[in-house]
Amino acid sequence: MPASGPYCETPYDVLIIGSGAAGLSLALRLAAHARVLVLAKGPLTEGSTYYAQGGISAVLDRGDSIESHVADTLDAGAGLCNEEVVRYTVEHGPESIHWLLELGVSFTHETLPDGSPGLHLTREGGHSHRRVAHAADRTGWAVETVLAQRALAHPNIQVLEDYIAIDLITTRKLTGEDNRCVGAYVLNRKSGQIEAFRAAHVSLATGGASKVYLYTSNPDSSSGDGIAMAWRAGCRIANMEFMQFHPTCLYHPAAKSFLITEAIRGEGGRLLLPDGSSFMHRFDPRGVLAPRDIVARAIDHEMKRLGADCVYLDISHRPAAFVRSHFPTVYERCLQFGFDLTREPIPVVPAAHYTCGGVLTDRRARTHVDALYAVGEVACTGLHGANRMASNSLLECLVFAKAAADDILARLDRPHPGVPIPPWDESQVTDSDEEVVVSHNWDELRRFMWDYVGIVRTTKRLQRAKRRIDLLLGEIDEYYSHFRVTGDLIELRNLALVANLIIRSALARRESRGLHHTLDHPETDPALDHVDTVLDPSQPMGGFDPLRIAAQPEASPGGEAETDALGHP
Ligand SMILES: Cc1cc2nc3c(=O)[nH]c(=O)nc-3n(C[C@H](O)[C@H](O)[C@H](O)COP(=O)(O)OP(=O)(O)OC[C@H]3O[C@@H](n4cnc5c(N)ncnc54)[C@H](O)[C@@H]3O)c2cc1C
Repeated sequence: MPASGPYCETPYDVLIIGSGAAGLSLALRLAAHARVLVLAKGPLTEGSTYYAQGGISAVLDRGDSIESHVADTLDAGAGLCNEEVVRYTVEHGPESIHWLLELGVSFTHETLPDGSPGLHLTREGGHSHRRVAHAADRTGWAVETVLAQRALAHPNIQVLEDYIAIDLITTRKLTGEDNRCVGAYVLNRKSGQIEAFRAAHVSLATGGASKVYLYTSNPDSSSGDGIAMAWRAGCRIANMEFMQFHPTCLYHPAAKSFLITEAIRGEGGRLLLPDGSSFMHRFDPRGVLAPRDIVARAIDHEMKRLGADCVYLDISHRPAAFVRSHFPTVYERCLQFGFDLTREPIPVVPAAHYTCGGVLTDRRARTHVDALYAVGEVACTGLHGANRMASNSLLECLVFAKAAADDILARLDRPHPGVPIPPWDESQVTDSDEEVVVSHNWDELRRFMWDYVGIVRTTKRLQRAKRRIDLLLGEIDEYYSHFRVTGDLIELRNLALVANLIIRSALARRESRGLHHTLDHPETDPALDHVDTVLDPSQPMGGFDPLRIAAQPEASPGGEAETDALGHP
């Protein structure tokens, strides 16, 4: 195994940090021509992908069209999507689904009206057609397990579980010259050793940062590590104020925010107040099928107005056999908590679900740092704008994994900087004698983010959050420089940095748009259409006003002649 020991002197062609839909798709797309190392900070399949229920959007029905999927995505994105990126993604949707079918993903099929077999397509919020391919309500499981099996079986892909990346290694950090990514320092959680991995290309595929909030639908892995590492390496981070809250997670103290798929509403599920009355029609003519931000805000509003702990989701009017066959996972899970989906309304609340912003990339998934890519939820490609439309995120993972692979393969013969990588320096640190600092700060951070930087914001609450995060950042930095790193400390340091980026971005956007809703600026400002919030680590963080740039058309993927919006050749 070339990667064991404190250094890896055998460089890989590509180091991929993350093993969800984005990381494993990228690995499989590359493996015929490149030696790939994939790192997972826990078990290989543990990430948001595994838990995705609803499905993957793509234009697969004859009555549907690329134009319609593009229009729906732009509409949900509230004036902030990059239309070229949206079109590029949507156009590559059908081939992405066919690629998964070829790999062996067992999507749900049905008999079409003409008698031929076809994919069963469901409909979710914001979509004007049925266009979501799914494997019952376990799409993520079906996709992730097949991708993992394929990756494990491929001789060119090496997979290391329980390896948590701490920081990227760049030539700027090593020599002060240029800024090319040449590898990463990684904690081997089993041995406790920090190892250095060298690679000609590195891709972040670390997922999102929803764990920054107290209540989240995400697994523990979503601690924003990739966004934080990219920031420290010199990448720009965009649109972090747009955190998506899923409207319907099961409300039960032991359920750990178990998500109830939007497809239930797509199949006729109704949202009800505690008195049994429906309310969504008062907020949007599309009712329960309005985009997620509208539904989450409406629920938040009604809960606050009534002082209610939750609202209710009811699909008990549909035949029990239909409910059980379409939503087997949700049905079983709810039963475990004493709720029978086929007979009664179930209690639901919103929870942090998806990070629309992230590491700014172009259409080839390149970041601002040479040889560093970002794919999947960690990235901000311009697809989601101010609000992600349901089931567009797995699609983005697949489409941009392919785009990144094409770009990397076209550059494989570039000379690799032979700069020596020093071992991780632990000479100044000791084992911590007060782990309580870490657990306390985890709790404090996630609670004030929920209370002050949640679904509905105000400037005063954001400023309160900013004062707290400034304090915490100082404390965590000091702790980090004195004590040996652990998985929890790495994640806390990253969460705090990401929280800071979210708060600063939210303070800077003085309007309400998409997922960012502030009572101090309740209207959308047309002057800010197509204006992204871009934070640049080379700019001082003292002021509130981040660099804002209008979305620009980009060079086509792989094209080398022009310069794109990131300034890449
Ligand atoms: C409950 C739920 C339901 C969803 N339903 C849908 C849906 O129906 N349709 C849809 O399109 N989207 C859905 N989403 C969103 C979608 O699942 C995610 O956006 C997508 O799976 C992200 O994939 P990813 O590969 O970018 O990251 P993930 O699948 O989250 O994988 C991240 C990987 O990075 C690794 N990692 C993180 N940090 C480090 C580190 N420091 N070092 C090493 N490894 C690291 C993790 O171990 C993991 O392997 C859902 C999300 C959730 C949580």
